[in-house]
Amino acid sequence: MPSLRPKPALFNPIFRLTTSGLLRRTGAGGAVRAMDAAQVFDRESGASDEPDQRARLKIAIVGFGNFGQYLARTFAAQGHAVIGHSRSDHSAAARSLGAAFFRDPHDLCEQHPDVVVLCTSILSTEAVLRSLPLQRLRRSTLFVDVLSVKEFPRNLLLQLLPPEFDILCTHPMFGPESGKHGWSGLPFVYDNVRIGDSEDRANRCRRFLDIFAREGCRMVEMSCTEHDENAAEIQFLTHTVGRLLAKLDLKPTPINTKGYETLLELVENTCSDSFDLYNGLFMYNNNSTELLERLELAFNSLRKELFGRLHVNLRKQLFQSPDGGSSPGAEEN
Ligand code: NAP
Repeated sequence: MPSLRPKPALFNPIFRLTTSGLLRRTGAGGAVRAMDAAQVFDRESGASDEPDQRARLKIAIVGFGNFGQYLARTFAAQGHAVIGHSRSDHSAAARSLGAAFFRDPHDLCEQHPDVVVLCTSILSTEAVLRSLPLQRLRRSTLFVDVLSVKEFPRNLLLQLLPPEFDILCTHPMFGPESGKHGWSGLPFVYDNVRIGDSEDRANRCRRFLDIFAREGCRMVEMSCTEHDENAAEIQFLTHTVGRLLAKLDLKPTPINTKGYETLLELVENTCSDSFDLYNGLFMYNNNSTELLERLELAFNSLRKELFGRLHVNLRKQLFQSPDGGSSPGAEEN
């Protein structure tokens, strides 16, 4: 299938390979200029437009729900072979995306995918991972998770996977709503938790990351711990405010301001995700409880400030004498 996509980001000058074989931004004007200048008769330039069999990955998506299908669309569009498995039967959706669906996890694993992407709800991840027949996979398989929290799956994967498996923890920080106009400029966080030394393994990991780089994502290498510290504020706060506003049942009016429309959009963006996802952000990020407490304190302090001013004004009115000065009673209090 001929690729309609631009040249892979591996050849994009703003990315370079690090010694660990992963992608890092280097700023504009980097290496590999020759590829840009290549002519039609140049075999290498032809190769960048043709599907490169070595670059084609077989990717298994475990958890073929809302986000799994969303990712599958881009994986398939980039020419990768996509296979899926889920608790529910999503075979029709998979077919429409050009993917194969396996109801039985044994059948999925016997397909020997290069990469297994864990895309289940945060709450069900451990049970799902424990139910996978890992012995049916190749000894060298790359496991990737896309959970919206990172320390929890990192520890779980290290604990449950055989030591021969590679582990890449990622968080595409967008979804079907926020990424509906494409992924350009949207952050993609990754932590190369355990990637074997061999060139093949580094290459496989790099090819997976390249899917997101090719779509224009802002590739951010960050430890899982650091991610969770930041995500409590960025993500859990955003979702909490969105869900809080949803409880007010806000409606559009004929005199919407820009600010009010932003609030309506926030409700839409956050409430289109499942409650399981939101619950997972709370339960599996150590920093979320503290953030909820800070939010409550901030709300109470704001309310106190408003009511404090109201009280001062009321007192002034109550004790104002008819001639405009304050009455003696007011001074006594
Ligand atoms: P979700 O509600 O977090 O997860 C739905 C998926 O989990 C479905 O595939 C569902 O399977 C599976 N699942 C739920 N409970 C299960 C159980 N008890 N046993 C087995 N499977 C179960 O919604 P999502 O939006 O699709 O998110 C999937 C993952 O991607 C989450 O970890 C989330 O944090 C991450 N993520 C989501 C977004 C986003 O914008 N939505 C962005 C970045 C990362 P069935 O469909 O078969 O029922």
